[in-house]
Amino acid sequence: MELINTHTHTGLTGHGSGTVEEVVAAAEAASISTVALTEHFPLSADIDPTNYISMPWDVLEDYCEQIEAARAKHPGIQVLIGTELDWLGADEDRDLDAIDWERFDIILGSVHYLDLWPFDDPDQADHWDEVGHDAIWERYFDQFCEACTSNMPYDVMAHPDLVKKFNKYPSSAFDIKRAYQRAAEAAAAGQRMIEVNTSGATYACKELYPHIDLLTEFRKAGVPATLGTDAHDPRFVDRGIEAGLKLLHEAGYRQITVIQPGGDRRTIPLA
Ligand SMILES: [Zn+2]
Ligand SMILES: [Zn+2]
Repeated sequence: MELINTHTHTGLTGHGSGTVEEVVAAAEAASISTVALTEHFPLSADIDPTNYISMPWDVLEDYCEQIEAARAKHPGIQVLIGTELDWLGADEDRDLDAIDWERFDIILGSVHYLDLWPFDDPDQADHWDEVGHDAIWERYFDQFCEACTSNMPYDVMAHPDLVKKFNKYPSSAFDIKRAYQRAAEAAAAGQRMIEVNTSGATYACKELYPHIDLLTEFRKAGVPATLGTDAHDPRFVDRGIEAGLKLLHEAGYRQITVIQPGGDRRTIPLA
């Protein structure tokens, strides 16, 4: 089975490690056929003053050039220029119209912030019990749906149920099935792809993103699926890929979709 990984990070932020070249070399050594570098797109100095979360604005150009250099050096693997772009909703404070999005082969859309609170940050996890799980889950899926149908240049919605990361689930009063259906409808309406993100298995929730029931809703809605490991260290570039492919098959997908350089797509049959 062909292995792909369209979600990886480097040491260009304060929370990752490794270089672009190391990620590509590790991916090639792991027999991955397509790898995307998707470093966190720069945030404003107000939101990320130390570039712990996102890469600095002044390395963006160099980042793209490093990927092009790695692509030239490793003709045996397809290398995509990508980025992971936060959805900030009403709190967006960057001039995104000034960005040349065409230079990216793949843009991941991610909801990491709810009203500027990074809900998946372990250092700010106390806020979960102050706000309440049901309200957070509701807000998360509202924002996910808004991001899907926004005019943001997202190709793929990343880790679609990241809200489960800390294993903090809503009460039975929360209609999770309806939330999943809304997410799938929004992804289809916005013509986004979604990813199976294998990193969830390493967190408290101990399962891949998304849950099989949500993945099944995406499949029923005709939303194409791709796969990423969200590795923040080259050593983990292929972690969980086999499990991700298995989950896709269990959810009824019979093919996986891979973005190509330039943005075209191809599909790989799922055995
Ligand atoms: Zn992310
Ligand atoms: Zn990521």
